[in-house]
Amino acid sequence: HHAEAQGLKYCVFSEELDRETRERMSMESALRLSLAANALELHYQPKVDLATGRVVAVEALARWRHPVSREYISPARFIPIAEESGLIQQLGAWALGEACRQNKAWQDAGLPVIIVAVNLSAAQLHQPDLVEIVADVLARSELDPALLELELTESALMEDPRQANLTLTRLKQLGLQLAIDDFGTGYSSLSYLCEFPIDQLKIDRSFVMDLLIKPAAAAISSSVITLAHRMGLKVVAEGVETAEQLTFLERHHCDEMQGYYFSKPLPADELAALLRSGRRLASPAQASGCTVL
Ligand code: C2E
Ligand code: MG
Ligand code: MG
Ligand code: MG
Repeated sequence: HHAEAQGLKYCVFSEELDRETRERMSMESALRLSLAANALELHYQPKVDLATGRVVAVEALARWRHPVSREYISPARFIPIAEESGLIQQLGAWALGEACRQNKAWQDAGLPVIIVAVNLSAAQLHQPDLVEIVADVLARSELDPALLELELTESALMEDPRQANLTLTRLKQLGLQLAIDDFGTGYSSLSYLCEFPIDQLKIDRSFVMDLLIKPAAAAISSSVITLAHRMGLKVVAEGVETAEQLTFLERHHCDEMQGYYFSKPLPADELAALLRSGRRLASPAQASGCTVL
């Protein structure tokens, strides 16, 4: 009986694996099709300057509607598939090009000057021609390089810190901004971190979420702000959802914030309307904000 039960269990398990593999493969070919058809989109989430309450930057986030189901698939699901299948290089180059083209169009339309931030995967960081691709995108879009920021996760940088440092140094020479994303979640060595030519740290959402619940999260967040400032870096908090979190971060002199409390990621036209309105998403240097959600 025991052996039979185990056999049955094994069988169910392997069918489950099979289903997952098939789903991944079909997801991968659908993503490949959408990329070829230029059917992905970018949404843009404001980064709000705490001193003025104004939008000073936006983060470009990839959005994909499955071509058959027409449902939006979360990047948390399709980015890993793109990474494992090698599609991330193509997706990444597209996102860079599209974000730069869009920001240049906003600037040409006379909208307030903002930085556009683009996420880079670890796989892109290891791409030998990454710097050439970024230089090429900047040249073709004619965007001021100072208005482009690249976000790299701590874990991507720590896979090969020496190589990462070389690549970051060459990227920095193009005149753009560099940020470390999801800061505090990887295993970075602070001694390496200090050597990277970066401009900004983004405090991971998991700490922001627990700010008023767990003393450790508050301690880590305020320490990261102090550390960043002592290193001459700017700090951004991601995933700010409540006025209480905003107040805490403001009191600890965080520079910028991003989160549903201010705005969720918006399609390009809605972001343009927000910029054009000149609306503040928070009161200047004061613990109250008004949400656009
Ligand atoms: P990330 O770079 O850390 O981006 C922040 C994520 O948090 C976004 O999720 C954003 O929509 C979400 N978020 C922002 N504010 C809040 C908030 O107040 N509450 C909550 N619960 N969530 C908030 P999204 O768009 O689903 O993207 C997930 C991740 O996928 C990103 O994390 C990034 O690592 C990756 N990703 C997205 N687009 C790209 C891309 O074009 N290239 C690469 N390589 N990765 C991308
Ligand atoms: Mg990011
Ligand atoms: Mg992040
Ligand atoms: Mg994150």
